[in-house]
Amino acid sequence: MSTTTDFDFIVIGGGSGGIASANRAASYGARVALVAEGPLGGTCVNVGCVPKKLFWNAAHLATSHELAAGYGFSATPWDFNWGSFKSHRDAYIQRLNGRYAEGLENNRVTLFRGHGRLRGKNQVSVDEKTLLSAAKILLATGGTPIWPEIPGAELGMDSDGFFALGEQPQRVAVVGAGYIAVELAGVLRALGSDVSLVVRRNHFLHGFEPMLREHLMEAMQTQGINLLAQRQVRQLRRDANGLCLDFAQGDCHGGLDAVLWAIGRRPQTSDLGLVAADLATDDDGFLAVDKFQNTPVDGIYAVGDITRAPALTPVAIAAGRRLADRLFGGQSERHLDSSLTPTVIFSHPPIATVGMSEIEARERYGDEQVKCYQSRFVPLLRAFQSEPERTAMKLVTVGHEERIVGLHAIGDGVEEMLQGFAVAIRMGARKRDFDDTIAIHPTSSEEFVTLR
Ligand code: FAD
Ligand code: NDP
Repeated sequence: MSTTTDFDFIVIGGGSGGIASANRAASYGARVALVAEGPLGGTCVNVGCVPKKLFWNAAHLATSHELAAGYGFSATPWDFNWGSFKSHRDAYIQRLNGRYAEGLENNRVTLFRGHGRLRGKNQVSVDEKTLLSAAKILLATGGTPIWPEIPGAELGMDSDGFFALGEQPQRVAVVGAGYIAVELAGVLRALGSDVSLVVRRNHFLHGFEPMLREHLMEAMQTQGINLLAQRQVRQLRRDANGLCLDFAQGDCHGGLDAVLWAIGRRPQTSDLGLVAADLATDDDGFLAVDKFQNTPVDGIYAVGDITRAPALTPVAIAAGRRLADRLFGGQSERHLDSSLTPTVIFSHPPIATVGMSEIEARERYGDEQVKCYQSRFVPLLRAFQSEPERTAMKLVTVGHEERIVGLHAIGDGVEEMLQGFAVAIRMGARKRDFDDTIAIHPTSSEEFVTLR
């Protein structure tokens, strides 16, 4: 190995959390090394939020076209060219990769390309060739898709494989019940594929406010998504008609071009040299951290999807920046509070949610303390449709002051509505504060300040 180079801060992982923390630390004058394998920007930029949201936009345009007929637009063919979309998308992502590299250079972060591994409490090797040392090391190596351990699993693909597809699969089964499953099933259906969604329970999005998932389930079925509930996949095989899923329940689902596994992600911690630094993960591979992102080993920190914080880009970024503020910016108490983290599921229609579901609030505060307000309505956008998709909203309040502890919405435009409401709720908004706010008319968001 070449001679050791000394830094103040070494970050392993060039994704959302790692880049944010490296840049922030360097802005305080720290000498920072970033060790990154894979394209800069990590999951979010390359195989996550960004390509997914571009797909969602494409799907949104496809469905907007159906709406446009009611507004008097003539129905001209509106063909989607997957290949052309993919080349625009890939070029855009490449530009983002370049901007990240430029940002690091401008901030004087030294970038080492390769696999980072701990070589003790203060040392990191890069591809076994270069040795770096620092008093402070941040681990931010993110997650990777989980594959089922069943015969024929390799015939399917994960979300990384989905983004690499050069052609649109026509008959697809999506297996899973979380964010990725409902988002990608919705995108594929809106773009014209024949889609089945295979879930183990009788519903998806377990743990979310039931109103949201019930509404989404109804909408997805109306759109023609075939929901195969209470099915456990036993094997995937290929026969004369294409791919075929065999279920433990005894039936099967065949004639498929593609099967997408969307059954969760696991942290990338198995090849990080943790033992060399006396660190260990829990049984699922996550690193334990306190509210300051400290691991049990002094001087080693972790942020993002390798911790048990919500696996969302803004959470990884905020944790990384706050850690740098604390370590190098003289803000000794700075840390992330990830309670009341707002989140959007880019399903069709989208879901926006922050805080507790009604069930969680009743369990935590008792039935007599909880009061909910809800509404289900046809948004003006859909006024000309014969069977319009509705929008649904719900507020969960507690106590005589009716402090808002949960806000949930599903429908057109809710993905852009949530951010501002999340600020209000974080500041302790009560139902009365919502009522006292003048509505903006005609919008769907005004419903939140006029609920009775
Ligand atoms: P990552 O962004 O995963 O970065 C980790 C980086 O470390 C990677 O580049 C990896 O190659 C590198 N690495 C790993 N091991 C090493 C090593 N030993 N040495 C050097 N480098 C290493 N979140 C949202 O907020 N909104 C969304 O809409 C959204 N959509 C998503 C859609 C999909 C399909 C997926 C998969 C995820 C989505 N997420 C979304 C989640 C989001 O992408 C992650 O929460 C976020 O990227 C986590 O950031 P991170 O810094 O922990 O890790
Ligand atoms: P999730 O953890 O959200 O969901 C995976 C679900 O799949 C599980 O909850 C489980 O549901 C089901 N499942 C697990 N194992 C199996 C199995 N063997 N067979 C069938 N179903 C199974 O994982 P995702 O991969 O969808 O996403 C990972 C994370 O990335 C998300 O949690 C989120 O934090 C982030 N993300 C965020 C997005 C956003 O912000 N819009 C978009 C995409 C991802 P059940 O127990 O009900 O069966």
